Amino acid sequence: MSFKSLGLSDALLRAISKKGYTTPSIIQEKAIPLVLQGKDVLASAQTGTGKTAGFTLPMLQLLSQEPPLRRRPIRALILTPTRELAAQIYANVQEYGTFLDIRSTVIFGGVNARPQIATLRNGVDILVATPGRLLDLQNQGALSLSKVEILVLDEADRMLDMGFLRDIKRVIALVPKRRQNLLFSATFSKDIRKLAQSILHNPVSVEATPENTTAEKVIQKVYRVDKPQKSELLIKLISEGNWSQVLVFTRTKHGANRLSKKLVSSNISSAAIHGNKTQNARTKALDGFKKGNIRILVATDIAARGLDIPLLPHVVNYELPNVPEDYVHRIGRTGRAGASGEAISLVSAEEYEYVRGIEKLLGEKLVSEEIEGFEADPNYTPPEPEKRGQRPSRKPKQESKGTSGGSQRNRKSNSNSDSSSAKKKKPNSRRRY
Ligand code: AMP
Repeated sequence: MSFKSLGLSDALLRAISKKGYTTPSIIQEKAIPLVLQGKDVLASAQTGTGKTAGFTLPMLQLLSQEPPLRRRPIRALILTPTRELAAQIYANVQEYGTFLDIRSTVIFGGVNARPQIATLRNGVDILVATPGRLLDLQNQGALSLSKVEILVLDEADRMLDMGFLRDIKRVIALVPKRRQNLLFSATFSKDIRKLAQSILHNPVSVEATPENTTAEKVIQKVYRVDKPQKSELLIKLISEGNWSQVLVFTRTKHGANRLSKKLVSSNISSAAIHGNKTQNARTKALDGFKKGNIRILVATDIAARGLDIPLLPHVVNYELPNVPEDYVHRIGRTGRAGASGEAISLVSAEEYEYVRGIEKLLGEKLVSEEIEGFEADPNYTPPEPEKRGQRPSRKPKQESKGTSGGSQRNRKSNSNSDSSSAKKKKPNSRRRY
């Protein structure tokens, strides 16, 4: 299958070839013809599948088929949950639209609104936006959505997780009733289906990867380890495995900061990326990570959502997410584009409940093991608030500062250069999730 056979125009084909793409991805193959036909599309696709081009390319084509309107009202609106994702989609819109007379811009919070308002005043055909800033500027009269022809909800599941349902409903009330709708989501909960039903008209469903499954080439490993030992174990894995580019997930912003500092103090270059960081700090960290100047990027789920980091060899769940779907999102960052990757989870007794939830979602057992010197204490009892069935406290206790236990134990372990060959014991033994 070629891009040409999907019915894309020469201007778009040139832009695609400039990007270096030779063949369409599965989601592109399925979605592009449908969008070009003006159909509403409900797509199951996560980041890394090429979904952005899947909706951007046909959107550009549809918009460029008619001469631009004099005042350039917003004709296509792409709603997306995070600033990073918004910035990436906008960059894609610009690249794919290089040879077209289409104006676009992006708006998101956390940065000065004035330049955004000035750009909007000049008129744009395509607007990429996060919900909060969009409604904010709409309230200020800086933009109108009354001429929107195409509405895209990208990463719809994440938007709901982030509490944007009310905002989405407010946006829907501001766009014309007659419009084309495209909804992309990595997972399909009851709420997503309900939202899709209320927004889409006779949608065609397309799927890039089977729902809620992890990419086949991702090797998933679970190491049982007590919470205070986690940072030392991570440092060991990174150092001995000689890992050069690792995305590490923590559950909290404080946890991300703390871990990043700890890595830096162990001479491992690292940066934290989360919602409390300024946009500049996030962009800088991400650039450094992509260029290889920063070895470890520590991120919370929300901050990491939508990051375009191809071919990531290692993803580490320093803490498991309490929402099983987030596990699938996280490990979807590795093993992309035909390359294999490792997703490693460091799991302490407090999190065994989460493993069960993840296994249920995946429909498979996660084999767990222990690394010598970092064995989980069988007599360890999780602290009260984190016991089974209860939500862990929002602010996990400070990790034990005493690293001597870990490093002493560390002496026992071998120093093989491959993490996977670091001495392990008792696969799936002792602890049952
Ligand atoms: P996305 O899922 O939209 O975030 O895209 C993931 C990555 O795949 C991005 O780096 C895109 O530039 C890249 N990409 C998208 N479509 C293709 C394609 N047909 N061939 C190769 N790379 C692609």
